[in-house]
Amino acid sequence: MSKYDNIPYKMYLDENEIPTAWYNVRSDMKNKPAPLIHPGTLQPLKFEDMQPIFCDELIRQELDNDTKYVPIPDEVLNFYKMYRPSPLTHAVFLEKMLDTPAHIFYKFEGNNTSGSHKLNSAIAQAYYAKKQGLKGVTTETGAGQWGTALSMACSYFGLDCKVYMVKVSYEQKPFRREVMRTYGANVTPSPSMDTEIGRKINAEHPGTTGSLGCAISEAVEAAVSTPGYRYELGSVLNQVLLHQSIIGLETKAACEKFGIKPDIIIGCAGGGSNLGGLISPFMGEKLRGEADYQIIAIEPASCPSFTRGRYVYDFADTGKVCPMAKMYTLGHDFIPSANHAGGLRYHGMSPILSQLYADGYMEARSVEQTAVFEAAEKFARVEGILPAPESSHAIRAAIDEALKCKETGEEKTIIFGLTGTGYFDLTAYEAFNNGTMTDYIPSDEDLEKGFASIPKLDL
Ligand SMILES: *Cc1c(COP(=O)(O)O)cnc(C)c1O
Repeated sequence: MSKYDNIPYKMYLDENEIPTAWYNVRSDMKNKPAPLIHPGTLQPLKFEDMQPIFCDELIRQELDNDTKYVPIPDEVLNFYKMYRPSPLTHAVFLEKMLDTPAHIFYKFEGNNTSGSHKLNSAIAQAYYAKKQGLKGVTTETGAGQWGTALSMACSYFGLDCKVYMVKVSYEQKPFRREVMRTYGANVTPSPSMDTEIGRKINAEHPGTTGSLGCAISEAVEAAVSTPGYRYELGSVLNQVLLHQSIIGLETKAACEKFGIKPDIIIGCAGGGSNLGGLISPFMGEKLRGEADYQIIAIEPASCPSFTRGRYVYDFADTGKVCPMAKMYTLGHDFIPSANHAGGLRYHGMSPILSQLYADGYMEARSVEQTAVFEAAEKFARVEGILPAPESSHAIRAAIDEALKCKETGEEKTIIFGLTGTGYFDLTAYEAFNNGTMTDYIPSDEDLEKGFASIPKLDL
């Protein structure tokens, strides 16, 4: 007999139980995340400074450290109803396979065409662009989840969507590109020849296959130089964590409805948006001293911003057209090794999570990619879902924690974020299945090269 014998395998909220306001974790933080600063003046960015880049309402959300609950607009809530509430699943088959006394639950965000949680913020961002009367938005995408999500959201609201896609992904991952085009997006391989920064990067690094940091620079330039356009970003920013709090709010509501008390909450961390969203309401309780949870961020050993990065101001992009953010960073010139297959390759981290980590409210660990795919395979075989490589970082850690419980006999309750599905990552699965996948951990010298690109500021 276990304490969770009487709950369903999949715990759904009713449609009318979807939260109607996002929760802003900054409102409960004593040490607020450091503001974005202007690279020239080093002064915190003001509303007017950001206006050429972002939509007005999204800037307000970015700067708002105080409002606790932000109402979700009806148009966004209606769209959420197409694929939300997402299920909180009791991973009984995984528990059985591991023969662990631990209880494992996962919140699955892969049940929409974009295949990930990114649609939660994309639809909000497209809504505010539409409301402002804009013609369209620009963005970047790496493997394509964010670009796909924003394409879907823009198509819903009748906005143009221009996506700069990292060239190597554009060429090697044509399928997501075609999903974006199906939703009407204009997809350009980056670095391209249609922006100044793209031409510069192409001239300096002939034959380059691009990077996320470089695609961001191009998308921002395209937005500020095209009337009626703004730029939208799928992670890292405070506004994105705000929108993603829907994941955590639903999780918490399901926990309350079904009597689940988590001890450990785990999420993978690229720019920090899914993890930030999942933990927000739980972190709020922790910050207010109402409850305690062990919160763990999992990142790839090949791109270890939290575990080996520096907590300093750095540029958000390679081309240095974006503002600077104080965050755990590997340096804006850091490019993860080419053998790194599993996503999560951004050099920096959400300023909110960076502050919470610096203040000791959460932990971080790094895992190697073959161990991640071993976990993905185990999970797929027993729970039936083919997980995204990114999500599988969290699966790895959840399995490791459950195995620790097996040693100690502890009956801990673990919740992890299953952010998406892996149907577009089959080249990585192929390498794993063929036994040709390798692990790469950057040496201290490798990291020094990235750190050398961090601006030396007198702050
Ligand atoms: C983008 C993505 C991530 C990582 O981004 P975060 O902003 O750190 O959440 C994780 N999982 C999936 C499936 C993604 O698409």
